[in-house]
Amino acid sequence: MALVNEHFLKLPGSYLFSDIAKKINTFRITHPKQDVIRLGIGDVTQPLPQASIEAMHKAVDEMTQKETFRGYGPEQGYDFLIEAIIKNDYAPRGIQLGHTEVFVSDGAKSDTGNIGDILRHDNSIGVTDPIYPVYIDSNVMCGRAGILEEDGHWSNVTYLPCTSENDFIPQIPDKRIDIIYLCYPNNPTGTTLTKAQLKKWVDYALANDTLILFDAAYEAYIQDPEVPHSIYEIKGARKCAIEFRSFSKTAGFTGIRCGYTVVPKEVTAATLTGERVPLNKLWNRRQCTKFNGTSYITQRAAEAIYSPEGKEQIRQTIAYYMTNARIMKEGLEQAGFTVYGGVNAPYLWVKTPGGMSSWEFFDQLLYEAHVVGTPGVGFGPSGEGYLRLTAFGEREDCIEAMKRVKRFTI
Ligand code: PLP
Repeated sequence: MALVNEHFLKLPGSYLFSDIAKKINTFRITHPKQDVIRLGIGDVTQPLPQASIEAMHKAVDEMTQKETFRGYGPEQGYDFLIEAIIKNDYAPRGIQLGHTEVFVSDGAKSDTGNIGDILRHDNSIGVTDPIYPVYIDSNVMCGRAGILEEDGHWSNVTYLPCTSENDFIPQIPDKRIDIIYLCYPNNPTGTTLTKAQLKKWVDYALANDTLILFDAAYEAYIQDPEVPHSIYEIKGARKCAIEFRSFSKTAGFTGIRCGYTVVPKEVTAATLTGERVPLNKLWNRRQCTKFNGTSYITQRAAEAIYSPEGKEQIRQTIAYYMTNARIMKEGLEQAGFTVYGGVNAPYLWVKTPGGMSSWEFFDQLLYEAHVVGTPGVGFGPSGEGYLRLTAFGEREDCIEAMKRVKRFTI
C-alpha cells in the first residue's frame, strides 16, 4: 500500500482565485451587459520582446540541422546565458559572481518552492505577511510549517506583519529564526526596502546564522536608486543569502518559463553535528537529479534581452506597465483612496475605505465600478483591509477603470 504525504492534506484549498471567479460569474449573470475590467491578475499582457522572438526563431532553425541540433543541455544552464546574467545583472552593481554560482531554471516559482529540498524539515521559518503563497505552501508540503492554527497562522512559521502601521517595513525578530523569506520589490504590497533597511536583515542573518531566501522577481521595476536590486549589494550577503530571479515580469516570459537562482559558494548550513555544508553543492546535486535544464530555445530568448535591442525593448514594456501604475495610483488617490506601492513595483496595495474588509471592498469595486482586484487577505492575515491591483493590464483598461472608480466615489 502506498501511503500519501499527509502534509499535503493539511494544505487548505487554494480558494482565492476560484472564489474571485465565482463572484465575477455571479456578477455577469446578474449584469449581462456590463463589461468587467480585471486588474487582479498577476500575468503580463504585452508580447515578448522582438529580440527574444528572433532569437527563438534562430534557435528553432538550429534544431533542424544535425550540426547545430541540441539535446539535453547542462542542468545548470548554458554558459552563454549565465555569462550574460553575470555581466548584465550583477557586474554593473559591483557584484562578482562565479559561473557555478548561477543556476538557470524554468522560473522562480519552481526554485522558491524547491529550495526547501536541501534544508531539514525542522528548520524554523519566517515570512513577511502578506506574502507570495508559494513560500508557505511549499513548507507545509514537507511538514516544516507545522499545523494550521485557528487564526490562520502556521505553528512553525513566524509572521512578520507589513502594514501601513509600520510603513510595510518588517520588524527584525527578537528571536532567532533559521530561514527567512524576503521578497523585494514585494508581491503583493508593491513596497520596497532601502539599502539601509535591507542591511539590517543581512546583519541579523549574519549574527543569528539565519539563511535569507531573497526573491527579486520584480527587481526590473525598481526606479529609485536607493532601492537595491540584489541582496548582494549588501556587504556580507554572500555568506547568508540565496537570491531568486525571473524573466517572467522582466521580459514577459510567464508562458516561456525562465528564471535563475544564485547560490554563492560561501552560503552554508549546518548538519546536526555542526559540520558546515555549502548549499551551492547541495543545490547543484538537487538540480542535476531532479531537473533536466531549461530548453535551449528558451535560454537563447532569455540571452537576447541583454542585447542592446533587447534591453531597449524590455525597458519600453516596463515603462508601459509603470505608466499604468502611475495612472492607477493617481486615479485612486484622486478618488480619495490611500494607495501604497506602484512606484518601484507593478503592484498597488489599496487600503480599504472606512474599515471595510478586503472582500467587502472587492464586492464594492466589482458592483459599483465593475473592476476586479485581489482581496489582500488572500495573501495572509496582515493583508486584511487591503486590495491588490496590478499594473499589467492594457492601458485603455487602466484609464477606464480609474474613470469608473472616480464616478462611484466622487
Ligand atoms: N516570486 C514572486 C514574488 C512572484 O510574484 C511570482 C509570480 O507571480 C514568482 C516568483 C513566479 O515567477 P515565475 O513566473 O518565474 O515562476
